[in-house]
Amino acid sequence: LIKPADRMNGLPTQFFAKLVAKANAQTAKGRDVINLGQGNPDQPTPPHIVAKLQEAAANPLYHKYPPFSGYPFLKEAVAKRYKEDYNVDVDPTTEVAILFGGKTGLVEISQCLLNPGDVCLVPDPGYPDYWSGVALAGAEMSFMPLTEQNGYLPDYDAISPEMAQRAKLMFMNYPNNPTGAVASAEFYAKTVEFAEKHGIVVASDFAYGAIGFDGNQPVSFLQTPGAKEVGVEFYTLSKTYNMAGWRVGFAIGNAQIVKLINLIQDHYYCSLFGGIQEAAALALTGPQHCVAELSAMYESRREALFGALDRIGWNAVRPGGSFFCWLPVAPGYTSETFADLLLQEADVVVAPGVGFGTHGEGYVRLGLLTNEARLKEAVERIGKLNLF
Ligand code: PLP
Repeated sequence: LIKPADRMNGLPTQFFAKLVAKANAQTAKGRDVINLGQGNPDQPTPPHIVAKLQEAAANPLYHKYPPFSGYPFLKEAVAKRYKEDYNVDVDPTTEVAILFGGKTGLVEISQCLLNPGDVCLVPDPGYPDYWSGVALAGAEMSFMPLTEQNGYLPDYDAISPEMAQRAKLMFMNYPNNPTGAVASAEFYAKTVEFAEKHGIVVASDFAYGAIGFDGNQPVSFLQTPGAKEVGVEFYTLSKTYNMAGWRVGFAIGNAQIVKLINLIQDHYYCSLFGGIQEAAALALTGPQHCVAELSAMYESRREALFGALDRIGWNAVRPGGSFFCWLPVAPGYTSETFADLLLQEADVVVAPGVGFGTHGEGYVRLGLLTNEARLKEAVERIGKLNLF
């Protein structure tokens, strides 16, 4: 009786849903599972942000529909944060769209810009939600391989002129999920040049913009001259302020794209609960030491993990940002058979690289999302399997 629309065929089951099911099955056997597979921050939202929501929830103004496209005060807070952190000037009324996390915008931009048959350039490996948006738009993907040799940056010279000509949209994401790679101002300058030459819109996913290591603050794409003419950046409060469950983020940059995203959002959602918008504005304009502390915490976890990896002879490149580590699998395994082995024999959940694209094969992703003792224990358990 129920016949799904054709466009639903392009939507796979959420990759992480499968991972969660496998981890839960192991836990149900009574095993002490260490889950390094998912990207869920383990720390709570800073208390001053929670307190603001509690207070704001009582404001009857917020019990009505919020204004379409969100409250101006939150857009102003976004603009202020970008000015302070990146010295980027934006007009909060026309160059900021309030989103339900970064995810909604990353899916919607494909629907805003792609017709069936258009091409979207997508990083491989990359965050799977880019694919879903392209699939819902009925467009095609052309994958840009990210390899260790290229520092996990796309090689624009390797994209054929025909493909570059057909492409209308391109995703990029630094600090990168899943590889932990970071991008430089020079790379972004090259990206703007490539986008201008071929008329391609750039969607910069800056979900991990606050998490940079070794004294380097990640660069925002919008810091690049000309960036606002060719693209938008998607930012989320999920990671920066441990607010993944709150579902709040924004798109910032090109006014025409922001307008299109707002139009879609207005039809689907109207906007976020006002109390959440007020707490989000406080997160962005209030004390920021929690952000620096968070980044330092992930860096110290990275050191603990890599110290343990060195001891068992599992060699990999340290991430420059994000909270993910991208590690080669042991010889003789695929990313899936290796992840299954670690789950069955060591009770450790890791994400198989192939879930992020075909170029993710041969790797697994580990999240720095538990304390140092548990990270070390996970590696010690893996060490007992004598795979390296
Ligand atoms: N982009 C990347 C690369 C991510 O890893 C995530 C979350 O895991 C998101 C975007 C979406 O974040 P949210 O929708 O929670 O804002």
